[in-house]
Amino acid sequence: MSHPLLDTLRAAIGAAHVLTEGDLSAWEQDWRQRQRGRALAVLRPGSTAEVAACVRACAAHGVAVVPQGGNTGLVVGSVPDESGTQVVLSTTRLTAVRGLDRANLTLTAEAGCVLQNVQQAARDAGLLFPLSLAAEGSCTIGGNLATNAGGTQVLRYGNARELCLGLEVVTPQGEVWDGLTGLRKDNTGYDLRNLYIGSEGTLGIITAATLKLYPQPAARLTAWAAVPSMQAAVDLLGLAHQHLSAGLTGFEVMNQFALSLVDKHHAHLRVPLWRESPWCVLLENSDDESEEHARARFETLLEAALAQGCVSDAVVAENLTQAKNLWHIRESIPLAQADEGLNIKHDISVPVSRIPAFVQETDALMAREIPGVRLVDFGHLGDGNLHYNVQAPEGVDPAAFLRTQEERINTLVYDSVARHGGSISAEHGVGSLKAATLPHYKPAVALELMRAVKTALDPHNLMNPGRVLA
Ligand code: FAD
Ligand code: ZN
Repeated sequence: MSHPLLDTLRAAIGAAHVLTEGDLSAWEQDWRQRQRGRALAVLRPGSTAEVAACVRACAAHGVAVVPQGGNTGLVVGSVPDESGTQVVLSTTRLTAVRGLDRANLTLTAEAGCVLQNVQQAARDAGLLFPLSLAAEGSCTIGGNLATNAGGTQVLRYGNARELCLGLEVVTPQGEVWDGLTGLRKDNTGYDLRNLYIGSEGTLGIITAATLKLYPQPAARLTAWAAVPSMQAAVDLLGLAHQHLSAGLTGFEVMNQFALSLVDKHHAHLRVPLWRESPWCVLLENSDDESEEHARARFETLLEAALAQGCVSDAVVAENLTQAKNLWHIRESIPLAQADEGLNIKHDISVPVSRIPAFVQETDALMAREIPGVRLVDFGHLGDGNLHYNVQAPEGVDPAAFLRTQEERINTLVYDSVARHGGSISAEHGVGSLKAATLPHYKPAVALELMRAVKTALDPHNLMNPGRVLA
């Protein structure tokens, strides 16, 4: 296709990296298959300078840019709309690890580095980059920062935001801001780094980041506990904080129906203890001393929990293979759920103290309003973050269920979240999926401030338009 913009782009980054023909579905279709867009072109720049050249060219032609990393986002933020007028700018060729500073405990990586490769680069140096989520084999560090991803280690290390010390960004005008300082202290005005983290590609393109590293723990142990109620799970979390303190690196909760789906669709994983208990908890203990020390601490914790009645039964993984299997069960819930059929996902947070009341009230409300509804409730209880997902009643066509009930169910769940002082998006972001819903739950003043920032930085609305702010 000849088009003045495309000709400029081909000259800037090479014709081989301006894709306009053939099957572009890998870039045009979102991970959950909620939206299939159409791109004017898919751009694959190979350096920060090339990203900047692409953005300048698009700005000059008034063409919108949709940044994309691994395309694993869950809120429809990284694919173009259906107009065929937007370009997708893929970061997947920006894969260099630019450096590792051992004394400063930092690593600088380009935005298209796959998360697993960043973890490996840290491990190769005997260090730890703790961000960890089920999509780590294909999501990118740029996407993780753009969505401020959470995952399974937030309890101890924080989310992507807390693991980032500096950014390099291409602005909507195509300028490069080099903020890769690696400084742990820098109070020189507005915090631009934290403005870009979580901005979902609406304020510019992250091209590289300086990330925090940690020492590798001496040992990591995983336990699986059956708990009689959500209140018991919260009580167990309190005990775990008390007994393991900073050693507590993971605390995941799963309801019986979620685990029954793993048992049904992934039977080879052998889910422990799920039949006898409404909830199970997965705990991880990272120890700075030794495996024996970790085991002893786990035993003391579980004895106290059994005595107090917040755990009815528990197993501690004997070895790494068993530990991996337990994590694999937890991470298989979304897949097992997809095997069961289309479903409605919620990624909510409320203060940990209010989780039991939230679950009890919302479960009761859902059962009353939608008889037979099946709730797949699991998530990062240590962070007060639940994936409160909704599956159609047995025998009901999932597609029809979604068509007729999704809006109503979202309102029921989000109103309940609001009553408990929570957020309708804990870690996945807003994208286009929740952009129209956000104004119902975010204070008007906050939205006004967000719009002011967007207009100041991207006055022509060319960076990922329609995302975050509808
Ligand atoms: P994309 O999907 O490509 O993009 C996501 C958003 O970021 C889009 O708005 C895009 O425009 C923008 N973006 C991407 N790269 C850049 C860049 N360089 N500069 C500016 N903007 C950019 N999330 C969690 O938080 N916790 C989890 O536990 C978790 N588990 C998941 C499990 C599975 C199986 C899957 C599929 C997803 C999961 N996610 C989870 C969703 C999570 O948001 C993404 O996996 C990840 O953070 C997105 O990275 P990505 O490179 O795929 O980004
Ligand atoms: Zn999650």
